[in-house]
Amino acid sequence: METVPLFKLAARHGGRTAVIDDGGVYSYRDLLERSARAGAGLLDGGGDLREARVAFLAPPGFDYAAAQWGIWRAGGIAVPVAVSHPRAEIEYTVDDADASIVVAHPQFEERLRPVAEARRLRFSLTTDLFGGPAGPLPNVDVRRAAMILYTSGSTGRPKGVLTTHANIQAQVATLVEAWEWTPGDHILNVLPLHHVHGIINAMTCALWAGAVCEIQPSFDPRRVWGRLSAGDLTLFMAVPTTYKALIREWESAGVERRQAMSRGASKLRLMVSGSDALMVSTLEKWKKITGHTLLERYGMTEIGMALSNPLYGERSPGHVGTPLPGVEVRLVELELDEETGRHEHGGPAARGTPGEVQARGPGVFREYWRRPDATREALSSDGWFCSGDVASLEDGGFRIWGRASQDIIITGGENVSAREVEQVLSAHPGIRACAVVGALDHYWGKAVSAAVVAEEGHEVNRESLRDWARGKLAPYKLPQRVRVVSELPMNTMGKVVKPEVRAIFDAESPGEEE
Ligand code: AMP
Repeated sequence: METVPLFKLAARHGGRTAVIDDGGVYSYRDLLERSARAGAGLLDGGGDLREARVAFLAPPGFDYAAAQWGIWRAGGIAVPVAVSHPRAEIEYTVDDADASIVVAHPQFEERLRPVAEARRLRFSLTTDLFGGPAGPLPNVDVRRAAMILYTSGSTGRPKGVLTTHANIQAQVATLVEAWEWTPGDHILNVLPLHHVHGIINAMTCALWAGAVCEIQPSFDPRRVWGRLSAGDLTLFMAVPTTYKALIREWESAGVERRQAMSRGASKLRLMVSGSDALMVSTLEKWKKITGHTLLERYGMTEIGMALSNPLYGERSPGHVGTPLPGVEVRLVELELDEETGRHEHGGPAARGTPGEVQARGPGVFREYWRRPDATREALSSDGWFCSGDVASLEDGGFRIWGRASQDIIITGGENVSAREVEQVLSAHPGIRACAVVGALDHYWGKAVSAAVVAEEGHEVNRESLRDWARGKLAPYKLPQRVRVVSELPMNTMGKVVKPEVRAIFDAESPGEEE
């Protein structure tokens, strides 16, 4: 039996700093000590939680890490609840995961205690768990289930993605190797901790490597710039929307502050973008400001990270690189069955032509929690996970076209990638943000439709945008419909919620402009 190595590694780092948050500075020893108490409290005299689901909610920071480790060390499955979730979604998570214990930081007691009490579940405050005595903890085999993260597909309720300790270890190990994490690293994390990006890529990689994970409880561009300017960080990871907000903050600063911001940020060794498509316009602005070519990578809750631009060597804008160590990636042709609306798999996609991204490796999740049909559909018996994303392999590496279900627009018989149109429109000086969808249309079947947020003082409309984009996009890719909106609907990860954008256009009569 191989027990979870994360805790053994932590013991080696002893008094070194593990986590910094608004409450203080905490060593690896503190983390081991506090999580041991939490584990003993959760066990409550029992020997092993035996994969009981523990739903927990703590603000991003040391208490979050100690609670998560406590659940793991007691043999439980950690089910993080999102800080931003309203009561109905918290209830959904607790019920779907079939949690038997609910843990909350006192800040969230009011939100979680009633949920637990209504279901007669055990409820504990983190402060009570951390204040109790330590006690014997079970040996937890790496093959056991560790975590359930909820992920929303484009349709249906969120599904629980179950990963084992071995899966998490593999997801972490590949990034530690590829991005050369060392104990000398110091990352600033502003990502939410109910999602793979913040939990695995930022926090667990740091704690695995013996590095410092500094955590701000939420994203505030001024605060982030304060830390980037100091010049003592080595790593930063964020979603494209975050980089856009940081660019705006830099642009609104005076000359002297701008210089200090740029100087500090240039000292980091690596800045990463992912979880959503990075617009080349954002990459270029960030490069001008900080000197960094953002390293773009691609991954999913179900598989961890799969593709990455290189740490050394050329990072190709608009591309997400090549497979990470230990991850196999292939592209498989997809055919849309017009009758059923489902995609059927064909043979391997030729170089340069689009196909579904499929990934295999030790980081691939075990199953969708209590959804055997969904698991069977997505995960083949020989271990390939069908991502539902479409990409092509080009000289610069893999290029993501988007979700097969929503970003591949079949318009007048031609396939258009919403992502490609977004890339082009984003470079328009009058456009701050945009989202492209396929709206129902009598004539085109689906009409390429763009919702755009205009930059202050700029006016954009359908004709001016089409005129500007001609020559940059083939005629059938030019947006048929354009709506200027004040903001785009986004989820807590800063990703545009495409079904809501489509609803803007579908509410209009299909094809009214043609
Ligand atoms: P999540 O499971 O919430 O991390 O979402 C994963 C999805 O985000 C993927 O299936 C992709 O559709 C999208 N995604 C992640 N990274 C990228 C990227 N670099 N470019 C484009 N889409 C991405």
